[in-house]
Amino acid sequence: MSVFGGIETGGTKWRCAVGTGPGDVRAAETIPTTTPAETIDRTVEFFERAGKVDAVGIGSFGPLDRDLTSATWGQITTTPKPGWAHTVVGPEIQRRLSVPVTFDTDVNAAALGEHCWGAAQGLDTFCYITVGTGIGGGGMAGGKLLHGLVHPEFGHVRIPHDRKRDPFPGVCPYHGDCWEGLASGVAIEGRWGRPATELADDEAVWELEAHYLALGLIGVICILSPERIILGGGVMTAPGLLPGIHREVKELLGGYVESPAIGEGMADYIVLPALGSHSGVLGAIALASVDGGLS
Ligand code: ZN
Repeated sequence: MSVFGGIETGGTKWRCAVGTGPGDVRAAETIPTTTPAETIDRTVEFFERAGKVDAVGIGSFGPLDRDLTSATWGQITTTPKPGWAHTVVGPEIQRRLSVPVTFDTDVNAAALGEHCWGAAQGLDTFCYITVGTGIGGGGMAGGKLLHGLVHPEFGHVRIPHDRKRDPFPGVCPYHGDCWEGLASGVAIEGRWGRPATELADDEAVWELEAHYLALGLIGVICILSPERIILGGGVMTAPGLLPGIHREVKELLGGYVESPAIGEGMADYIVLPALGSHSGVLGAIALASVDGGLS
């Protein structure tokens, strides 16, 4: 039976695991993200210690190049993260471990993990959106992971910004007040002067956050018509945020989309990940097993 490696590369940590799924994780390690060379070295060392794998899946922060016909396949491309632009990840792991590598976005990996073992089982059109340091989204349409021109960039859609209610200009280095610029963890800290974890009791913070997240989500619902939306990431652990999003989404859609999911079924429509914070690394294992490094 084949054994797979999964890597979820994040801006602050890389999660690595070896196994075949959530019930069979044979080794796991979390590596802090430092320089590209050091982080990749430590990742390779983990897999060398953990034993042989047949293929490796990588779910990476982006933007990235996952086009197999491209000369820059497997690279993290124009990330503003210092030192990480144009880092060669996929080919380097492939060369050093001598195994096929599948390279995709962290959110597509998480979506696949939830599809195989979590909250999106049996669904073929759904989204996984992370709300953490940044905002990113992936998912499936018609049973296939969302790719396209490059890959979706949910976090950079523009949402209405009422500057009277919220004069904060936003934090996106490219757009200022895009969705990520207004509603990411970095935006919350920038606007309120303290990290989200220290603002748990401040109702105004979460009312505005639910409003912004709902504004982006109604765009997603109207464009993709997902059968379920899974919201992961650190910001989503704030108590009361998810019910606030449910209320706002219902209100902002104004009764236009007729489905029980947008009514009494809302709590089962916009949900937290069933795999918790492990969707990404488990999904990376799924990427390796589904694709076998061939696509
Ligand atoms: Zn942006």
